[in-house]
Amino acid sequence: MGNYNQVTKTISLNMYGIKNATVNYQLSPEQLHSIAIEKGQGVEASSGALAVNTGEFTGRSPKDRFIVKDDITKDKVWWGDINIPFDTDKFDKLYDKVVDYLSNKELFVRDSYACADADYKMSIRVINEYPWSNQFAYNMFLRPTEDELKDFDPEWTVVNAPSFMANSEIDGTRQHNFAILNFTKKIALIGGTGYTGEIKKGIFSALNFILPVFKNTLPMHCSANIGKGGDSAIFFGLSGTGKTTLSTDPNRSLIGDDEHGWTNENSVFNFEGGCYAKVINLSRDNEPEIFDAIKKGAILENVILDDKGHVNFEDTSITQNTRVSYPIDHIENIQIPSTGKNPKNIFFLTADAFGVLPPISKLTPSQAAYHFISGYTAKVAGTEAGVVEPVPSFSACFGAPFMPLHPSKYAEMLSQKMIEAGVNVWLVNTGWTGGPYGVGTRMKLKYTRAMINAVLNGDLGLYNYDNYHIHSVFGVAQPRSCPGVPTSVLSPRATWNNDEAYYKTAFKLTNAFRENFKKFEAHCNEEIRRGGPQRYTF
Ligand code: ATP
Ligand code: MN
Repeated sequence: MGNYNQVTKTISLNMYGIKNATVNYQLSPEQLHSIAIEKGQGVEASSGALAVNTGEFTGRSPKDRFIVKDDITKDKVWWGDINIPFDTDKFDKLYDKVVDYLSNKELFVRDSYACADADYKMSIRVINEYPWSNQFAYNMFLRPTEDELKDFDPEWTVVNAPSFMANSEIDGTRQHNFAILNFTKKIALIGGTGYTGEIKKGIFSALNFILPVFKNTLPMHCSANIGKGGDSAIFFGLSGTGKTTLSTDPNRSLIGDDEHGWTNENSVFNFEGGCYAKVINLSRDNEPEIFDAIKKGAILENVILDDKGHVNFEDTSITQNTRVSYPIDHIENIQIPSTGKNPKNIFFLTADAFGVLPPISKLTPSQAAYHFISGYTAKVAGTEAGVVEPVPSFSACFGAPFMPLHPSKYAEMLSQKMIEAGVNVWLVNTGWTGGPYGVGTRMKLKYTRAMINAVLNGDLGLYNYDNYHIHSVFGVAQPRSCPGVPTSVLSPRATWNNDEAYYKTAFKLTNAFRENFKKFEAHCNEEIRRGGPQRYTF
């Protein structure tokens, strides 16, 4: 572990309306780890990591995420059921209740940054009710040096009160939990939920508004890494599609895990200072770098430990969304600072539970724009008995829940940057092969890695047109061969052994694409519309 500051500075929270609090300012992760255990809020796993339960919520709650409708946001935000408006007065009243609730308590306060590029750095003060939430902020945001702390001037504030319960009728929330962004006051107000992801996503959602509106920079829900020759790659994808898994690559330096900005100066930068990996079914064999990052300093969430403190990664009795957070330097091969040049390759990751998309294909610029706006992945039916049908899930820009502006804004910026940078865009199906969920199997991680390596090493013969054919339904260019991958795996149809069933399912998916795209059609030119699947039905 790194060099942790022992800070002598003290701060008061009176200016926030928090009175008589015992303020634990800028504690080291070791201290927070010990305090969490002392308070009975966590235990130490055999790996040395702190293991906590986040309580009622083990994932984000998108329906309880609000944006205050004020002069800054009212004409710019894409209001709807993703960006739900919240009244200014209601916010002020709820804020007063929360800070009143936090008064007279022992609190944990941390100053940190987001955005690894000095020109975009945003300073953040995080005020937590719980020590482990504060350690999460240590792991996930950028850590200021002692010098930077001396005259640290926090721009945004996160007020995080998991045990405060709202009264929906009085407070204007949907239920007892809430995550509200206020751009005028520069506050993310989080209550009623202990899920740590709300803390990081609150700040990232704020940046997803601030960067394009005020800084001409494209925010992206993606991971990124960089090769020895300085070639950056970025990986977009919805939750569970493989951003964290695939960007953690021993042969490439990790730039960042989940959120990046693409500037007008031909560079990308990470928002974060750490990673937040899913640990369901994690094994050292498949994912050694992530497995080994789980040590003192890391925080495991909602996992089950045996009596020796060993984690059973297969046990999903609390949630499928078991997680670990760790500072980025728990990964051996990282890029310092967390920045890179324009990407050479962009991967759109999708976990297609219908099993019909090719495991890897090359997209044209129109297709890239179409797929970016669509943001397709599929959800497996879950654990309900008898339900095996996958459910298509579309989330614009591969991250709609975190995008305050209309998706076309981000799509336009991305298209322009892709053209200027001359990037190649690849659609990667990390989901099912050999049939849909319930019949086929998940794509082997080693094959997906081999396909991605082939792209990054230039082994996929981009200009060897004989190595590609155009998929008759999706219109994408599908390679015929790829080093390290059996040829049969590259053609989804061939893996099914049942052409009729394959095409029927493929058409089902294209119909879902078309249905979803209707709401964006008016905003998209012919060029983008042409990027969709070629055929819908026979
Ligand atoms: P989030 O946005 O929620 O952080 P993510 O995109 O980072 O999600 P990962 O944490 O990388 O998603 O999760 C991918 C999961 O799928 C991991 O548990 C990984 O082990 C598993 N997996 C199985 N097969 C593959 C594959 N072929 N490619 C990528 N991941 C795979
Ligand atoms: Mn991730």
